[in-house]
Amino acid sequence: MDIRTLTIKEFGKSLKNKKFSAEEVVDVYIKNAREDEVTRPFITLCDASAREEARRVDEYVNKGADIHPLAGVPLAIKDNILIEGVRTTAGSKILDSYVGSYDATVVKKIKEAHGIILGKTNLDEFAMGSSNENSAFFSTKNPHDPTRVPGGSSGGSAAAVAGNFALGSLGSDTGGSIREPASFCGVVGLKPTYGSVSRFGLIALASSLDQIGPFGKTVEDAAIIFDAIKGHDAHDATSKRGEYAPASLYDEDRVKTRTLGIPKEYFEEKMDKDVAREVEGAIDVFRKKGFSIKEISLPHTKYAVSVYYVIMTAEASSNLARFDGVRYGRNSEKNTLWDIYKETRGRGFGDEVKRRVLLGTFVLSSGYYDAYYLKAQKVRKLIADDFENAFSENGGGVDAILAPVVPTKAFKVGEKISDPIAMYLSDIFTIPANFAGLPAVSLPVKKYPLGGELPVGFQIIGKPFHEKDIMNLGMWYERETEGKK
Ligand code: GLN
Repeated sequence: MDIRTLTIKEFGKSLKNKKFSAEEVVDVYIKNAREDEVTRPFITLCDASAREEARRVDEYVNKGADIHPLAGVPLAIKDNILIEGVRTTAGSKILDSYVGSYDATVVKKIKEAHGIILGKTNLDEFAMGSSNENSAFFSTKNPHDPTRVPGGSSGGSAAAVAGNFALGSLGSDTGGSIREPASFCGVVGLKPTYGSVSRFGLIALASSLDQIGPFGKTVEDAAIIFDAIKGHDAHDATSKRGEYAPASLYDEDRVKTRTLGIPKEYFEEKMDKDVAREVEGAIDVFRKKGFSIKEISLPHTKYAVSVYYVIMTAEASSNLARFDGVRYGRNSEKNTLWDIYKETRGRGFGDEVKRRVLLGTFVLSSGYYDAYYLKAQKVRKLIADDFENAFSENGGGVDAILAPVVPTKAFKVGEKISDPIAMYLSDIFTIPANFAGLPAVSLPVKKYPLGGELPVGFQIIGKPFHEKDIMNLGMWYERETEGKK
C-alpha cells in the first residue's frame, strides 16, 4: 500500500486497523519532502512537532480510543496562517524571521482533532499572485509538469496535495487563491462562505474577501477538513454563528433535486478551447443524468477584475501598514522613523506588494476616494446582487452554479510574470464569489495522473452557508465519473 496516495477516509481506516503507525507515516512524508528538489511545496518543515503529535495519535489508536477523522492525517498549512512557535513568512522577506506567537483558530482546531501538521507551504508574497512566482523565497512547481506554475497564491498547498506531499492542506482565497491552484494542480479546493471559517491568525490581504479553506484529493476529503475548521469564533468579528449540516455527509436524494445554473457570461470570455471543452463535458455529465439545468445571467461579471484591483489594493494597503519595522518587519539600524519605514518597507517588500500598496493608497486618497473606492464598492454590490438574483425564487431560481475556474490550464513558469494584467485576468471567474461571499469549490473534471495531461477544474458555486449542497454535488460528480457508488 502506498500511504501517500490514500484518501483521508481510507487513511483513517488503515490507521485504526494498524496497517501502519502515525509515526511511520510522518517519517515517510518528511523524508519525501526532504528529498524533493523539484516541486518544493514547503517553506518550513515541522519535523519535531509532527513526530510528537504522531506518537500521541499512536497511543490513542493502541488504546482503541475513538479518533477524529483527521487524527494522524499528514496536513500542510499555507505560510500566511500562524502556528505558535513556528516561522511564518507570508512568502515575504519582511517576515523572514517572524515566529508565530499564537495558533490561528483553524490550527487550534486541527491540533484538537490531532491532525499532523507537516509544515508551512509556499505562497505568493502576502497572497498576492496567481503563480507562486511572487514568493520572495523560491517558486513551487506544478507536480504535473515542473516547467509550469502550480497556480497561486496557495500554490504550495495545492502542489503539496497533488504531488503527494500531504493528504490535505489549508490555503486562503481572496480572489481565487484556493480554486485557481486547485484547478492547475488537479486537486479539490474549497473557498468557504465568508464568515464560516475563522480568519483569526490569518495574515490579512483584503479582510472583506479573505477566507481560509481546504484542499483535498477528493471532494469528500476537502469536506472533512472543512467540517473540522468551520464554526463561529469570538476572535473574528466577521465569523457567523449557527450550526449547519456537515458538508461531508452525503445525501443522494437531496443532491438529485438541485437545480443548476450556467452563467452565460462565463462562456463568452476568452477561454482556451481545451478548457472550454472539458468544462462543458463536466456540465454534460449533470445534464445527461437528468439534473434540471438553466442558463442564467451574471451581467456584471465583466467588471469583477477591475473592481477587485481597487477594493483588494485599498484593503491590502491598510492591512500592510503594520509592517513598518517597529513591531513587525526587519530590524533597521536607522534612527528616524521615516528612515526606518523606508528601509524596512523598501527592502522587505517585493515589486508586486509595492505596486498594490501604491495603488491602494491612491484609490483611498482624498479627491480619488469617491471616484475609485466608493464607485468600486457600488459595483461590488451589483456583482453580489447578480448572484442573489440567480438564486432567488423570482429570479433564476437555481440552487447552485456550474462554471469554469480559470480560462487556461497551468501556464509556463515565467510566461506572465512581466505582464501583471495578463496574470490578473486569470481570476475573472473566481473573484465574483469572493465579492458575494459565496462558497465555491473547484474540482477536477476527471482524474489526472501525474505526468499525463494537464488538469482542468470546474467550479460549483452555492448559496451562503450551503457548503453541503456544493460538496454533495461534487461528491455526486466524482461517484458518477469514477464509477464509484
Ligand atoms: N490572484 C489573485 C491576486 O493576485 C488572488 C489572490 C488571493 O486570492 N489571495 O490577488
